[in-house]
Amino acid sequence: MSDTVFGKIISGDIPSEFLYEDEHCIAINDVNPQAPVHVLVIPKKGIPRLVDSQLDDQALLGHLMLVAGKVATQQGVGEAFRLIVNNGAGAGQTVFHLHLHVIGGREFAEGRMAG
Ligand code: AMP
Repeated sequence: MSDTVFGKIISGDIPSEFLYEDEHCIAINDVNPQAPVHVLVIPKKGIPRLVDSQLDDQALLGHLMLVAGKVATQQGVGEAFRLIVNNGAGAGQTVFHLHLHVIGGREFAEGRMAG
């Protein structure tokens, strides 16, 4: 667990509606959505940034991607969504507890890397 807003959501200190939960992760709606579907997939383990993950986390990282696909499908955007991980403040990371952004339900510019 981490002492971030996501750690507090996972521990229940901050109430939040879980779109998905299993023993390894949760999925919640982003409070400031950038698209009609903007879900965060968050591991229960408080890894600060993607680069802080270790070989031990390999299965967990794969699991997060599988859950991202499942949640995207559940939210109706399984055919077209973007998966984003911001790593580090310089890349726009604001919450230092690893999370995957699942973004869908809007047009994406072809070849565009951001958002
Ligand atoms: P990042 O910039 O990649 O660290 O993403 C952090 C995301 O967390 C942002 O998109 C925020 O809008 C979102 N966020 C911050 N606090 C909450 C919260 N309490 N519930 C849901 N999403 C949140």
